[in-house]
Amino acid sequence: MMKRLLNVAPDQELNLLMSDPLTITPEGLYSPAARAHIDPVRPVERAVVTHGHADHARAGHGAVLATRQTLDIMAIRYGENFCGTAQAVDFGETLRVGDVDVSLHPAGHVLGSAQVLLQTGVQRVVISGDYKRQSDPTCAPFEPVPCDTFVTEATFGLPVFRHPPARLEIAKLLSSLDLFPEQTHLVGAYALGKAQRVIAEIRAAGYGKAIYLHGALERLTDYYQAQGIDLGLLEPVGKRGKELQGEIIICPPGQLSDRWARRFGDPVAAMASGWMRVRARARQRGAELPLIISDHADWDDLCRTILQTGAEQIWVTHGAEEALVHWCELNGRKARPLNMIGYDDGEDTDDVHATES
Ligand SMILES: [Zn+2]
Ligand SMILES: [Zn+2]
Repeated sequence: MMKRLLNVAPDQELNLLMSDPLTITPEGLYSPAARAHIDPVRPVERAVVTHGHADHARAGHGAVLATRQTLDIMAIRYGENFCGTAQAVDFGETLRVGDVDVSLHPAGHVLGSAQVLLQTGVQRVVISGDYKRQSDPTCAPFEPVPCDTFVTEATFGLPVFRHPPARLEIAKLLSSLDLFPEQTHLVGAYALGKAQRVIAEIRAAGYGKAIYLHGALERLTDYYQAQGIDLGLLEPVGKRGKELQGEIIICPPGQLSDRWARRFGDPVAAMASGWMRVRARARQRGAELPLIISDHADWDDLCRTILQTGAEQIWVTHGAEEALVHWCELNGRKARPLNMIGYDDGEDTDDVHATES
């Protein structure tokens, strides 16, 4: 940061260093210079939205700036009139908002997910939204963006969380299918991102048969396919039951322990989530076959990413904040927990209770 400040008078420099590029309001993170909130949890005048998960993307804002795909996803979920005016920004394109240059950069989390870079003359602030570093065939990979202040999520911000490669988890699902070819395999997966990634990973493992979809996953999955993401042959479950023995069905997590699951006789219940590392969570979900597949960075990737950004200030939000703050301090970075409310500590709530169709 110092290098960039060399041409600034000492007094002014101090002011710039002291002034917070972001403040925390009841609505969420706010950039005074851009006069915009980032992922606000309540309706605001001007919002920059990182991605389409329900705790980040809400309806009712005056103006929304996001990637085209995030805007499309918001329209799918909330209807075309989800905000006053919507403006799409391509990755890497720079837009002047208030007194700040704003650009969006891939976050590798779900389709359309972005990190937000706010740039004034002297400061670069990146708000990562949610992100991951594991490969994902369904969205653009995360790109580290050099900055002075990095706002990171910490959903899995404890050293115990280390996500195995997704293909190893998918191999568990496929070998269960080999062992129990008579049983329907239900895979609980959130509607936006996880469901489509699980399907793509199953395809990458060479599974060519039709994969069946619970009705609540159809619209977003259709959208992914319309965006050119190849998910192979998909069929709606519809009214089918026992005739789907030996097949794979992707459904919202809430359906695993619902009456709906019983129509398949004695199905194997699998669930894809980073929380499946924790036995109690798997049990609570009714998942006898836990698959540790997460769309969030694990501990190692959080730490690695923080170092890669080169940021001296780390703001930690969304999950296990204290452990990561402590790690940052041990590694010579200034860090603070944001303790913001309104965001899920889980793997993104979606409309999981949507009725089947
Ligand atoms: Zn998310
Ligand atoms: Zn989130």
